[in-house]
Amino acid sequence: MNEIRDAILSNSLDAIGGLAVPESYRAVLVRKDEQDMFQGLATKEKDPRKSLHVEEVPTPELGPGEAIVAVMASSVNYNTVWTSIFEPVSTFGFLERYGRVSELTRKHDLPYHVVGSDLAGVVLKVGPGVNRWKPGDQVVAHCLSVELEDPAGHDDTMMDPQQRIWGFETNFGGLAELALVKSNQLMPKPGHLSWEEAAAPGLVNSTAYRQLVSRNGANMKQGDTVLIWGASGGLGSYATQMALNGGAIPVCVVSSPEKAEIVRRMGAELVIDRSAEQYAFWKDEHTQDPREWQRLGKKIRELTGGEDVDIVFEHPGRETFGASVYVAKKGGTIVTCASTTGYMHSYDNRYLWMNLKRIVSSHFANYKEAWEANRLIEKGLIHPTLSKVYPMAEVGQAALDVHRNAHQGKVGVLTLAPEEGLGVRDPEKREQHLEAINRFRGA
Ligand code: NAP
Repeated sequence: MNEIRDAILSNSLDAIGGLAVPESYRAVLVRKDEQDMFQGLATKEKDPRKSLHVEEVPTPELGPGEAIVAVMASSVNYNTVWTSIFEPVSTFGFLERYGRVSELTRKHDLPYHVVGSDLAGVVLKVGPGVNRWKPGDQVVAHCLSVELEDPAGHDDTMMDPQQRIWGFETNFGGLAELALVKSNQLMPKPGHLSWEEAAAPGLVNSTAYRQLVSRNGANMKQGDTVLIWGASGGLGSYATQMALNGGAIPVCVVSSPEKAEIVRRMGAELVIDRSAEQYAFWKDEHTQDPREWQRLGKKIRELTGGEDVDIVFEHPGRETFGASVYVAKKGGTIVTCASTTGYMHSYDNRYLWMNLKRIVSSHFANYKEAWEANRLIEKGLIHPTLSKVYPMAEVGQAALDVHRNAHQGKVGVLTLAPEEGLGVRDPEKREQHLEAINRFRGA
């Protein structure tokens, strides 16, 4: 592994193809025999530091259409939090099902699950049938894994019946020194970013792109007013940038003055601190409080000069969904991709149908959408929102930060990269965007 790391660090990328793929590598994993370890505990008490381990594992066999990547850096997504607390289900069920799909996928069904759905690194080896990528290519990977043997996936790849999220519903993810991907997950690494910066946007940036911008999502247009929950978080920090870039007007919801300051530095002018406002959308476990929805709606109108929002960018789920449906404008869109606070949503349907609002579901992104989202990063139109970087040995703490909502934007993890700041190929372009790249640092 050292030889590979040295070749990458010394920029001897032509030599990469001649190096042997190591037989084993260090990886962040959960163990099947520990999947019941948190039974009986409340969600917040489940500690990823106890379930995420860094261990040496055998390198998987490389199949047709696949690539092995030397991973310089990765990042923590909320899906790694879900995997590490075995909620809402243990991910070993996903691996078992995937293992039954074909001879090629059987290798994914193991008593351990190597997690992680982002990476920045260098292609080490490609399998038969891969022509677009070669050893030595500097890449990032999006996390859509598809088989594409069914016609349903050939219009929008997210519709493939065998659609999975790599590193969550498949094994051999990006929080590791090596990763196994399908070659159609690869995209060029933006040259002005370091390894850890390049690894940060992938999953959330692509998801926000489909959810907010794509015609498969809310199809945002210039002038739209967009309510963005968690606007300084993983998804929200990219949605906010896309709204500002696309000529829309974000109304950013955050939970502290520090987070409000961050979104203001990004250029957002309309900000709601939900903690200061003390919204209580639920009176008790079973009853929502429409007066609180109204109070949020009134606050939005105060900020927008009397307008309701065209789009609500939803992901907190149960806690906020009733309010989200209520505050959307007549004919507006509530676009949802998650249920962090609970997946059994309830809302008053009268406000939906009488006002012809639409609830649109969104999930990750197809290859084209992920590519477009990465292109925005490459062009310097969207910037990584990396606030903190951990070494791989401290990945449990990194996941705990995200689990406890003690982070901003994205939390990075160094895998093969020995330190931060390496891997920049275009220092001039970096200089142009330095303020934006560093906006979240140390936040
Ligand atoms: P994140 O970085 O933790 O950000 C979520 C934000 O939500 C937090 O920053 C927090 O902001 C806000 N929030 C938390 N609890 C809230 C509540 N009770 N009410 C209102 N806001 C609340 O996570 P993320 O990466 O953005 O992911 C968010 C969710 O989306 C997760 O459940 C994740 O699994 C899911 N997701 C789904 C997809 C997909 O493809 N379907 C892709 C990415 C993520 P404040 O505290 O500042 O309000």
